Amino acid sequence: MSLRDEDSIVPLRALKDNYIWLLHDKMTNQAWVVDPGDAKPVIHYLDAKNLILSGILITHHHADHSAGVPQLLQYAGDIPVFGPADSLTHLISCPLREGEKICFSGWEFTTIAIPGHTLDHIAYAGADILFCGDTLFSAGCGRIFEGDAKMMYRSLAKLNRLDDQTKIYCGHEYTLSNLYFAHLVNPHHPAIVQKIKTVEAIMKEGGCTLPSLLKDEKRINPFLGCHTPEIITAVEKYTNKKLDNPVEVFYYLREWKNLIS
Ligand code: ZN
Ligand code: FE
Repeated sequence: MSLRDEDSIVPLRALKDNYIWLLHDKMTNQAWVVDPGDAKPVIHYLDAKNLILSGILITHHHADHSAGVPQLLQYAGDIPVFGPADSLTHLISCPLREGEKICFSGWEFTTIAIPGHTLDHIAYAGADILFCGDTLFSAGCGRIFEGDAKMMYRSLAKLNRLDDQTKIYCGHEYTLSNLYFAHLVNPHHPAIVQKIKTVEAIMKEGGCTLPSLLKDEKRINPFLGCHTPEIITAVEKYTNKKLDNPVEVFYYLREWKNLIS
């Protein structure tokens, strides 16, 4: 069994629709968690599986991604809390900047700065795995709270350039509602119709729709397609304006989605 097989990364449901991703080193029984917005599900899992928490990763300062940190430090002792440098949260003990690397078990992750949702937002990428918090979701993207459309577009473009086989581990279970919006924008796209069927079945069983493959996101995620004729045409029709560049298309597409959910 490989140390880095799929079941070494476990989704823990938290709060309303958050995911806390738990990385499990099966040789040492140590674990890292990504974006613990709540400590309870993490402690519950660690205790049930007899794991030792040895590190925490934070993608951005929002409480639903970090509020569990103080209780986890109480529980696990003095373990590193990795996260963005210049963050609004004071919970981070190991600040990271663009391009810095961290290692756990057989994994090596590189930090990518992806501001837009928040100014401090970072992703962790390595070995075809991407923890991207609230920037890229399956079939959607995060709201722009602190940056602007150009900043968010550039951040998504950075993620879009990663390898096709990259698995997207994002921060929320928003896949189905995102797909309904993708379908509204692009009604005749067979891959979107197919994915809705698959995801509806998963949700009916209470399952997890993630990770999703970047290769598939490139086909179904309208926010990654703002340079493509289908999305440009759909957004121009919606706004009744001629749009000159992908950033403009992205801006109006995001505004359109904001009105819906
Ligand atoms: Zn957020
Ligand atoms: Fe969030």
